[in-house]
Amino acid sequence: MAKISINLKEGAIKKDENIVVGIDLGTTNSLVAYVQEDKALAVKGKDGKNTLVPSIIHFDKQDVIVGDKAKLMLVEDPEHTIYSVKRLLGKSYEDIEAYQQNLGYRIIDQDDDALVKIEVDGTYHSPISLSAEILKYLKKRIEEELNQEIQKVVITVPAYFNDSQRQATRDAGKLAGLEVLRIVNEPTAAALAYGIGLSQEEEKTVAVYDLGGGTFDVSILNISGGIFDVISTNGDTFLGGDDFDKKIIEFWKSRYFSTREDFYTDKSFYQSIRIQAEKAKKMLSTSSKFTTKIGNQEIQLTIDEFDDMIRGLVERTIESCKMAMEDAGLSPKDIDEVIMVGGSTRVPLVRKSVGNFFEQNIHIDLNPDEVVALGAAVQANVLAGKQEGVLLLDITPLSLGIETMGGLMDVIISRNTKIPASLAREYTTSVDGQKNLKIGVYQGERDLVEHNRKLGEFILSNIPSMPAGIPKIQIQFILDADGILVVKAKELRSEVEQSITIKSQYGISEEEMAKMLLDSIKNAKSDMTVKALKEAVNEGNNIVVNSERFLRQHSSWLSDEQKNKMSSLLGELKEQLKGENKDLINQAMTRLNDYSAPIAHEAMDRVIQSSLGGKSVDKIDT
Ligand code: ADP
Ligand code: MG
Repeated sequence: MAKISINLKEGAIKKDENIVVGIDLGTTNSLVAYVQEDKALAVKGKDGKNTLVPSIIHFDKQDVIVGDKAKLMLVEDPEHTIYSVKRLLGKSYEDIEAYQQNLGYRIIDQDDDALVKIEVDGTYHSPISLSAEILKYLKKRIEEELNQEIQKVVITVPAYFNDSQRQATRDAGKLAGLEVLRIVNEPTAAALAYGIGLSQEEEKTVAVYDLGGGTFDVSILNISGGIFDVISTNGDTFLGGDDFDKKIIEFWKSRYFSTREDFYTDKSFYQSIRIQAEKAKKMLSTSSKFTTKIGNQEIQLTIDEFDDMIRGLVERTIESCKMAMEDAGLSPKDIDEVIMVGGSTRVPLVRKSVGNFFEQNIHIDLNPDEVVALGAAVQANVLAGKQEGVLLLDITPLSLGIETMGGLMDVIISRNTKIPASLAREYTTSVDGQKNLKIGVYQGERDLVEHNRKLGEFILSNIPSMPAGIPKIQIQFILDADGILVVKAKELRSEVEQSITIKSQYGISEEEMAKMLLDSIKNAKSDMTVKALKEAVNEGNNIVVNSERFLRQHSSWLSDEQKNKMSSLLGELKEQLKGENKDLINQAMTRLNDYSAPIAHEAMDRVIQSSLGGKSVDKIDT
């Protein structure tokens, strides 16, 4: 029961108005938790049985059914039953095309740029509205528990979720009538559930191993001064406990039902096999043998058989841990805590393998399938101001920047910057009298914007006419606590300004996100070569513009020889700029510079002399 206080005078029950709850919106299961008397608790349904709500939605004739009842319909009525919507949140059709056949329902793309929709009986549902159904169910559950209306929540997402997936999660919350105070990374929540990182002085490196129903991820966190830094993540978005179930089903098929032709097609039979397989797996987490009957057939499974069939899958997760550690540049002795998350980490072989890999004891005291929600509740409690002196910050997973000359990415907020953050940088124009400046905003780690993801663009217009290089254009990136980006551009001399808020239409897949990070490492060398060339070209172009202007402005006193020589060196540079050899461009620049530098000095002297009424610079200096 919730903590309530009774106003004796009026006889009314005074509710805790200031309550924020935590929600784990999972791929397989979702749950809601809150803090009561300094202890995080996951909420059970009215029947008091389960804290976990299967993230499954079934469309009955009139009703929308969520949770356990919907899970029963998965085999019986797959066309009207939707699962794993989290995989589709914030994604475009293009993002998920590759794995749409893995999902039992129909995914529609209405137009290229838009987010995907799911068709059920001719009605289209967005992943956001489907997630909202799950959230509404959880909202009802907590409201029944606390006997009061709940609005303020914290929702967790995987560390690798990009901003549009985060935005989609937030939108789902809004649609469910919730006020989402913060989106929190799941590994961060898991650490908080164990009380790690709550004190400002604490400095720790933590590994969070999360094996759920259909996904696996491992995150390495650096915790310092209340800041949770995700230093690396790795994983497999198609590996989880469901694959363990499939192994058991295949095993039983070949052992007991090898001649049965309708094994997969007899729905009620297959449903009972599936249910028994998951039951067997769960039972083997605490005992060494499982026995049951399906029809007249006795069915068995021992822990040794089970371990053998899943060994390869578990090994794959350990490979991911290895890569995450390599990316973080750490070895097992650098890890202070290992936290186990996700229902599938109850499997003994999983625990043993992870413990062996990290060479230490692992955290298994809290229910692994509740730990994220419990941590979300802790974070929620902090946001409600009930835990003094604790301030929890988040970080941005990919760098944000703009396109500069030659298609180069200029990073303004680098990856792993703690947010909220606001950073600015000054730029200028490259052409005389330039009135407009197009600002392309990108996300990613590569040196060239064409390899990164475009988030949006806008134009700073009405820049007063000035020579190239004179305008001072300040570009400011403001990233709020939820990862929503506002970009402002301002010409400081004239105060002309423009801004955009970036709520990108669709996101990139986790695979693509991981690929972006990986590519940036793999291509670092070739990127550097291209970058050096582009920089040489940019500089060369600037010199061309400036030299041409110089020749125009000073043609009255320059000798013909000077003019001809400069023009010819300028011609050579222009010629090299058409090519792709940065060394030749640099050489041509140097030749032109070497020749024109003394002339430029002379020009400067003349300008100063004339402004001083004929006195020479030398005389003033001495
Ligand atoms: P997700 O984070 O993907 O929503 P969960 O963390 O709830 O998923 O994990 C769900 C998975 O955990 C399912 O595959 C379920 O069968 C498995 N699981 C739950 N309890 C146990 C158990 N006792 N032993 C083994 N696996 C379990
Ligand atoms: Mg989970």
